[in-house]
Amino acid sequence: MNTLWHPYTQMKTAPPPYEIASAKGVYLKIKNGPRLIDAIASWWCVIHGYNHPKLNKAVTAQLKKMAHIMLGGLTHEPAQTLADKLVQITPAGLNHVFFSDSGSVGVEIALKMALQYWQNKNQPEKNKFIAFKKAYHGDTFGAMAVCDPQEGMHRRFGSMLAKHIFLPAPDMGLNPDPKKLQRAVTHLDHALKKHAHHLAGCIIEPIVQAAGGFNFYAPEYLTALRRLCSKYNVLLITDEVATGFGRTGKLFACEHAEITPDIMILGKGLTAGYMGHAATLSTSEVFNAFYQDNSEAALMHGPTFMANPIACAVALKSIEIFKNKHYLKKIKKIETQLKKELSGIKSKSIKSHRILGAIGVIEVFDPKTLIGLQEFAFKHGVWLRPFGAYAYIMPSYTIAKKELNKITATLKKFFSH
Ligand SMILES: *Cc1c(COP(=O)(O)O)cnc(C)c1O
Repeated sequence: MNTLWHPYTQMKTAPPPYEIASAKGVYLKIKNGPRLIDAIASWWCVIHGYNHPKLNKAVTAQLKKMAHIMLGGLTHEPAQTLADKLVQITPAGLNHVFFSDSGSVGVEIALKMALQYWQNKNQPEKNKFIAFKKAYHGDTFGAMAVCDPQEGMHRRFGSMLAKHIFLPAPDMGLNPDPKKLQRAVTHLDHALKKHAHHLAGCIIEPIVQAAGGFNFYAPEYLTALRRLCSKYNVLLITDEVATGFGRTGKLFACEHAEITPDIMILGKGLTAGYMGHAATLSTSEVFNAFYQDNSEAALMHGPTFMANPIACAVALKSIEIFKNKHYLKKIKKIETQLKKELSGIKSKSIKSHRILGAIGVIEVFDPKTLIGLQEFAFKHGVWLRPFGAYAYIMPSYTIAKKELNKITATLKKFFSH
């Protein structure tokens, strides 16, 4: 009997999942089986590797004080310290932090914040969002409504979702042809101008659209989007759940474009994969629209587990290690190695190689090419999980050169076998 229901899985036909008995560093230990190098860091969140002694210690130290308390009417030191820390390390101007328990909920809160911002400013007609093709923002209903409506995994729910405005995925690449960039920016300008009167905000994954198609785009596009959102009075929401905490080679992907969004969402790497947690940050301009004598103007949200003390303690330790151990340098090395080794994999079936920070992607023309890759990698001691037309590597930043080489060598073998 299938008591345990797996995600995105046809339970009837899927092969049984591998049982992991323990994990350490970049290795997953299969029960009664081999060790695998995890090439994708458990959906990219395990940034320091598994079972990290210092993170473990942060968890147990906090556990002895309290595992959890509600944030309604109460506060605690780890929550306040983490809020201060996030304000300090994120782009200048993001001064307020609202915690929640997952990236999807962090996105819901960002959308709600933008909607209520305009309500509080007596412009309730501004209640739509601009979103992008190839976007992925989570699995809950508000978030689903800003994911790619056709290619995304939520298309069957289309008729039940709020209707927003979708623009083409930015397709000019990281180093664009100026004409192509200009065309995309002109398109943005027209769309924002046309819809501004009923737009609450625009939501985008900065620089890298992740789960919706691993699309990389130019910082100049994001800079232009920031400028145009300000020009047309539309809130810019950047979803850094995938890109935050170094994944693209900067601490936050917004830094590539040197912008500050009005609202920003962090998740995944925030707690280094120890537990679900997210943060929605806002500027003081946004916060101040809620900061009134009128209780009706307050932000009406409050997840039970928001600012869980253990999550906050582990996040603080994670950020400390990231800085003290010069992780951005480690990520640069990963990028250099991926550029060398992944780009060296040649095959007629490969459409493109894309590498940025600790992200390496091989896109194939036909998704069928990747059938069997997961099993092939398993046999070679590597845990990879391609989806659609993408084979991707997003490892823990602590991965050693030899370990990363084993992953790229496995991919190379797959494409030449
Ligand atoms: C994973 C992801 C989410 C959703 O986060 P969950 O913690 O799975 O709810 C939202 N946005 C982006 C960009 C993501 O990559």
